[in-house]
Amino acid sequence: MALKALDIYKLLPKKNCKECGDPTCLTFAMKLAGGKADVDLCPYLDDQAKAVLGATTRPPIRRVRIGVGERSFEIGEEFVLYRHEKTFFHQPGILFEVSDTQSPDEITSITKRVKDESFTRVGTDLMFSGIAVRNRSNATDSFAAAVGIVENVADLPLVLISANTAALSAALVHCGTYRPLIHAATKGNFKEMCALAKQHGCPLVIKAHQLDELAQLAKDCSAEGVQDFVMDLSPASLYEFIASSTGIRQLAITRTAPDLGYPVYLDATAGGMQDAWIALGIVKYASVIVTAPLSRASAKAALTLRQNVYTDPQKPIQMNPGLYRVGTPGKDAPVLMTVNFSLTFFTLEGYLESARIPCFMLIVDTEGLSVLTAVAAGKLNETLVLDAIRRFDVENEVSHKKLIIPGYAAPLSGRIEEATGWKVMVGPRDAAEIGDFLNEEWKR
Ligand code: SF4
Repeated sequence: MALKALDIYKLLPKKNCKECGDPTCLTFAMKLAGGKADVDLCPYLDDQAKAVLGATTRPPIRRVRIGVGERSFEIGEEFVLYRHEKTFFHQPGILFEVSDTQSPDEITSITKRVKDESFTRVGTDLMFSGIAVRNRSNATDSFAAAVGIVENVADLPLVLISANTAALSAALVHCGTYRPLIHAATKGNFKEMCALAKQHGCPLVIKAHQLDELAQLAKDCSAEGVQDFVMDLSPASLYEFIASSTGIRQLAITRTAPDLGYPVYLDATAGGMQDAWIALGIVKYASVIVTAPLSRASAKAALTLRQNVYTDPQKPIQMNPGLYRVGTPGKDAPVLMTVNFSLTFFTLEGYLESARIPCFMLIVDTEGLSVLTAVAAGKLNETLVLDAIRRFDVENEVSHKKLIIPGYAAPLSGRIEEATGWKVMVGPRDAAEIGDFLNEEWKR
């Protein structure tokens, strides 16, 4: 059972010395209770307290990094079963599979696609996570060559899939220092696989068909000195996947089975219905999803779903405040003020682009709240608008002093005029009407 903050506090030295980075022992205890701090940060804990706290305060699902550098990604360190209870923290890596039986041109083309393809949605660039190289030939040389081709094209996180330890060993010569995920250790080969993972400092997939076998394998591999695991139950059906991944998440977050406290691996390439496997994997706790290259429509759907599931439901998606241009606005172009809630920004921007009227959008920081909510909560006011006009040097961008505000901000129009000295025009409440409004009302 997880300890509560006050129970943890009783075990701390109570020096309030701040050396752990927290102002008091109590705040450190609260962080430990939430799995947000490491017991080793307090240098004054005795061994007994460390042993008790270490076992109960580490995140229930281990965080594992795959790859190095800019495109590397972290998985695990999740705390809840349902997103609305808190949030999900680390989105699954989705990797396109190539095989060492494919031609070098095919491998290069798929790798280039993962390296470059990007979809922009609500201001975020969405990309796939890496390449999984499968040793379909079971030959050592061709596997190493395929990994070499991928490595020459891009620095992407890799999964190396082979049952042949000699082939894995040859491939790791190309990429062993880049933390590829090695697939997979089983009851029969775990000693050799652990030796490879240890030698190259790589995370390791452990594979078994039952939860108790998986837990035992995690224990055995830990004893070999490897700690970063991802677990593969090789489910035979969608039902089996949901049942096993939900079971693992439940047992891990309640700390009922700490040996199952690792991220989950899903191979979506087998057995058809790939889109369904990917969607279920994203929603039901897969952390590494290997798929055949997707069509553009499926790719967009998968990345959109992942973005939606892994945004914090308690935090609105925000834009950076600033002065944005729509088209190529001149000095006489209208200036439209609105809030930094992403959905508001992109909706308005879309209608402005359709209207083909070059203009400026002045985005004020309302902490991601919509116009209506920001006005009601006092998060949109004349001071913020004045600050934004000054900060983003709007007076030097245009030759007039007219500001169009959203219809829902009409109650603030007088105060904004008074504070800024700009003439305020109240725009429509519905962004869809902004084109007609500008055509009819905008006069310099
Ligand atoms: S380092 Fe230890 S003793 Fe000092 S404030 Fe943090 S928890 Fe307390």
